[in-house]
Amino acid sequence: MAVYDVIVVGGGINGAGIAADAAGRGLNTALFEANDFASATSSSSSKLIHGGLRYLEHYEFRLVAEALAEREILLNKARHITRPMRFRLPHRPYLRSRLMISAGLFLYDRLAKRKALGKSTRVDLAASGLFIDAIKTGFEYSDCWVDDARLVIANIQAAQRKKAQVHNYCEVTQVKVIDGLWQVSLFDKRLQKARVEHAKVLINAAGPWAEQFIEQKAQRTSPHQIRLVRGSHFIVPKLYEGDEAYILQHHDKRIVFVIPYLNQYSMVGTTDVEHTADPSQCSMSDEERDYLLEVVNAHFAKPVRAEAIISSFSGVRPLCSDDAEQPQRVTRDYTLSLQTHQGAPILSIFGGKLTTYRKLAEAALAKLAPFFPTMGGTWTDKAFLPGGDIVSLSSWKSQLKNQFPWLPTALLERYATLYGSEAALILAGARCVADLGEEIAPDLYQRELDHLIHNEFVYHASDVLERRTKLGLGYTNDQIATVDRYLQHHCSCNFAYQK
Ligand SMILES: Cc1cc2nc3c(=O)[nH]c(=O)nc-3n(C[C@H](O)[C@H](O)[C@H](O)COP(=O)(O)OP(=O)(O)OC[C@H]3O[C@@H](n4cnc5c(N)ncnc54)[C@H](O)[C@@H]3O)c2cc1C
Repeated sequence: MAVYDVIVVGGGINGAGIAADAAGRGLNTALFEANDFASATSSSSSKLIHGGLRYLEHYEFRLVAEALAEREILLNKARHITRPMRFRLPHRPYLRSRLMISAGLFLYDRLAKRKALGKSTRVDLAASGLFIDAIKTGFEYSDCWVDDARLVIANIQAAQRKKAQVHNYCEVTQVKVIDGLWQVSLFDKRLQKARVEHAKVLINAAGPWAEQFIEQKAQRTSPHQIRLVRGSHFIVPKLYEGDEAYILQHHDKRIVFVIPYLNQYSMVGTTDVEHTADPSQCSMSDEERDYLLEVVNAHFAKPVRAEAIISSFSGVRPLCSDDAEQPQRVTRDYTLSLQTHQGAPILSIFGGKLTTYRKLAEAALAKLAPFFPTMGGTWTDKAFLPGGDIVSLSSWKSQLKNQFPWLPTALLERYATLYGSEAALILAGARCVADLGEEIAPDLYQRELDHLIHNEFVYHASDVLERRTKLGLGYTNDQIATVDRYLQHHCSCNFAYQK
């Protein structure tokens, strides 16, 4: 009987990060994800690698310092899917005083080392003409943007390249301990087949389902409760030119981001609403939409109407429950809980942020060290993620332009920013657009789809169009169906997709 050292349940950012770290330290690792990788919270985030300026107000200094330090590490590890971003905070003196914001930014600039990221400054906003007359000045500081779903896939690929077994559409249906080992029952949705695997240690990285997983699948009492807090974003045609994001303050003291998205859109979010339904059933309510519109329209001179919304998405933050009354005050920090059942360890992850996934993985591995005394040490801080081993995104684009002068600019931009150095795999040997194969849907050629099938574990149109790329945002239902048909034909995928 084959026995893994570690089985990870859940292929969001935390599961993917832990699997990559564990495999790189020589542990025999497997990861199983019930749906697509990153199909839950990890593709519904604000897509920021940030310290979280507002968490300073909640005195979360440890979390903020750790998150700030991660910014430059992740900018280096994943140079294709991350980028520095300047954030502008219009000053509303009746909400937060100048002194208070200046003090917060002073700390923000100094809590961690900065090399690539500029320091904070004051900005004149009156000249831009973007805002209502009452807004004349503001503050500007640095954080980073990341393609969240692709950060997950890059970690899944990293795990696989370090010899981990990684499977999406494979649900863990039950776990029990037999003779000191975890017996993990799985249902493979692609093959419509049940199977059983064994491991010395189980990692519960089921995110919003972490508590439910312990109670229902392991039939044990969970050491912590999860509090589900829904956050929604909407997407509108871009509200302004420029690469900077805006951070807007509401009178309830919450903040809302307006972030440039995919060159032609602005992404507006997020909300903080208690979520009591199934985590997989979440979408933006009319109240959330109106709340976000209210904040935007209290700042921007040109009103944004509900009819302008092209699309929206929602996710639930799996926060470790504490005594905070308001959802926005619940800690964003993570808690790792190690339990043993009949001698077999299970490590459960509660809470966390995309930004701190790598540190969370290191903390998880530190907890496992006593069970694997010969495992390797920390390694992920300096290692590139797949696709990230380029000098810089701009030099990589120039290199691609020289090598493939016939490649349309939009396609070159897309390949470089999604796949980084792995764009070379899609383009290898091609000498003209026709060499990329049939155009299955606008801008989506056979070569790219085949790359996604062979290297990025896609089975459904939504895997390709919502997570590996965001092409679906501009597609008609017929175009989406064409992509789905191609996938069904080429990856013998005949199971219905259920989110
Ligand atoms: C609206 C919003 C905005 C956010 N913005 C930011 C941000 O800008 N920056 C930041 O740093 N963080 C942000 N976060 C937080 C961040 O997105 C989350 O902390 C992170 O994605 C959680 O990842 P996870 O792996 O724990 O959970 P998930 O991504 O939800 O992954 C858990 C996975 O486990 C799988 N699973 C569950 N049960 C089983 C089972 N039985 N078998 C197999 N698989 C199973 C699920 O299908 C799921 O894919 C935001 C969160 C939200 C909701």
